[in-house]
Amino acid sequence: MSLRWFILKIVYPFLMLAGSLSKRKKELFQKFIININNKLVRKQRYNVKNILILLSHCLQRDKCKIRLTHNVYNCEKCGKCEIRDLIQIADENHLSLFVATGGSLARRIVNEAKPEAIIAIACENELSSGIADTYPLPVIGIANERPYGPCINTTVDLEKIKDAVNFFSNNSSH
Ligand code: SF4
Repeated sequence: MSLRWFILKIVYPFLMLAGSLSKRKKELFQKFIININNKLVRKQRYNVKNILILLSHCLQRDKCKIRLTHNVYNCEKCGKCEIRDLIQIADENHLSLFVATGGSLARRIVNEAKPEAIIAIACENELSSGIADTYPLPVIGIANERPYGPCINTTVDLEKIKDAVNFFSNNSSH
């Protein structure tokens, strides 16, 4: 039994129960779980090629009507949202990139892509449950930024993604 297993399979469900009456508390617990998971994942060494970047669909600009869930490469790269930059990062590093509209689609993508490691970008709620679901796969979770509130026109710090890619592909950043 690893510490990561204990945190994700025992501590996480307990904290979700303990935080069920307070949204704020629940989100704090989810942040805690994501941070500790990321720290534990970063304690290992990896040199993997098959990395999946999984994106929450709210990163796509709300006015953009292009359907990305089946193929993110449908993006016309107008630059109004970070999907364009994320495609560039995935292409430069030969990674798989998918947009998921929810937990069940994310699970299906993971089952089909069979990655060795995952970099996931979403809100704390989706990230923490996704990280627990996909254990023992190593996942680095990066919370999106929500300048317009939840689920709309969210953004992400691209440097954090590049850092996670470097970490999984050759561990050069740690
Ligand atoms: S970069 Fe432009 S075309 Fe691509 S998803 Fe964003 S808004 Fe749509």
